[in-house]
Amino acid sequence: MDKIQLKKDNSRFHPYPKTQYLFPQMKRIVAIGLTMILFHTGFSQSGHKKFALVITNASIVDITNGKILSNRLLAISGDTILAVDDTKKATAYKAEKYLDAKGKYVMPGLWDMHVHFRGGDSTIAANKALLRLFLAYGVTTVRECGGDITPSVMTWRKQTARGQLDGPRIFTSGPKLDGPNAVWAGSIPVVTPADVTAALDSLQKIHADFVKIYDSRISGDAYLEIIRQAKRRHMKVTGHMPFTVELKEAAGLGMDGSEHLYYVFKACSSKEDSITDEIRRREHTDHPIGLFGALPALFSTFDSSKADRLFKYLAEKHFSITPTLFISKTLSGIKGDDHSNDSLLAYIDPKIQATYRGRVNGARRQSDSATRFTKKYQALCASLVPKMYAAGVNIVAGSDCGAFNSYVYPGSSIHEEIKLLAASGLTPAQALRTATANGPKFFGLAGFFGSLQQGKCSDMVILERNPLEDISAIDRIDAVLSHGRLYSKSDLDALLASIRH
Ligand SMILES: [Zn+2]
Repeated sequence: MDKIQLKKDNSRFHPYPKTQYLFPQMKRIVAIGLTMILFHTGFSQSGHKKFALVITNASIVDITNGKILSNRLLAISGDTILAVDDTKKATAYKAEKYLDAKGKYVMPGLWDMHVHFRGGDSTIAANKALLRLFLAYGVTTVRECGGDITPSVMTWRKQTARGQLDGPRIFTSGPKLDGPNAVWAGSIPVVTPADVTAALDSLQKIHADFVKIYDSRISGDAYLEIIRQAKRRHMKVTGHMPFTVELKEAAGLGMDGSEHLYYVFKACSSKEDSITDEIRRREHTDHPIGLFGALPALFSTFDSSKADRLFKYLAEKHFSITPTLFISKTLSGIKGDDHSNDSLLAYIDPKIQATYRGRVNGARRQSDSATRFTKKYQALCASLVPKMYAAGVNIVAGSDCGAFNSYVYPGSSIHEEIKLLAASGLTPAQALRTATANGPKFFGLAGFFGSLQQGKCSDMVILERNPLEDISAIDRIDAVLSHGRLYSKSDLDALLASIRH
């Protein structure tokens, strides 16, 4: 069995200690503790500790409680907020740099929990340019869900973490795991338990942040074996799921999340068992039932009380779901929508634009009745989001942007995803949480990321308008703070200009 061999071991470049797999929270708690001790010591001795940046007159968007905290002061050094106070006390805070945020709304940086860097070695520079595009849209962290340029992604992960490269923090799965002859280049093929062991060894060797499973060729048995072995190693696991497997089974084994809504939707069918049996029976025949082939039967047997029970179960399992509503909408609309004048194409390298053709050609072949069904199916899926959220499932915002995913532009696509999550019935605060606090929850890093409080991460977006009143305010970015570095509006424009082609 051919294994994908990664070109080099980047372990020494990893921005987080090796123990991140085992004790992610612990590392952050220790860091926060040390920070607090240093802060209190420094401040009480001098009385005028000098901060790197003090922001005054800020209206903090409290996404936890859905309210605005007015006239706040934030004192920041490095990537940590060392104090949050009333602006009236500003004279007590000395800083190298001050920012008056009067009339502005400050919220945590955005996390896009499903992106891809891929397209082969000839697209490395084109993918690297996307880091700036993310930042210009306030995306300060991405979860990269598998591709074929892993050594480069590992280098960018190190460089952005050290502030040597403009771009979001990167969490990456490295290569996806799949069956033999997988659809996506770079995937590691697994069949036997020994293959799974070797694959997970290789991911740990490069310090992958989580395991991403894809379902183009993987068997149900190999899939479940990945979850079992990954859990023994305390690695986070998310991904697609073969339709021969039931979601409850995967979640029961400790799977941490599910990408897209197909697998959740399948589990909401009153006939899930018999449909799954039929899929298994025909798996190795000349007439297998693919994912899309099964959707009409699943749609007509959708059972809302089963859905409610499932969501409760997933919440108990601390399960995360990435609905990716925007890419579904975009791809299903490709046939009728003309994207040739999209202004954002100016920031997408022609090499990446060239990868868009595959989906466009595929969409052209789709019948009108299939398009109509997809729209109905998507509306039903979107209606499940607020129910899952209310049940306590960890909903995370992810765009699925990257090469091959046509017209889903890095940065702006996560804004569109947040707006669609709000349109599905989430409150603005809930929709913002999916893109700020819930991503860190997936990684067990909520102690450091996800809200603007003392001791927490200073990655933030400064908006011109209040996103709790109108969610589309997330498009009106005035400044971004990433890795302790402040990017003004003109800095962000300059980033964009630098990748314009
Ligand atoms: Zn994806």
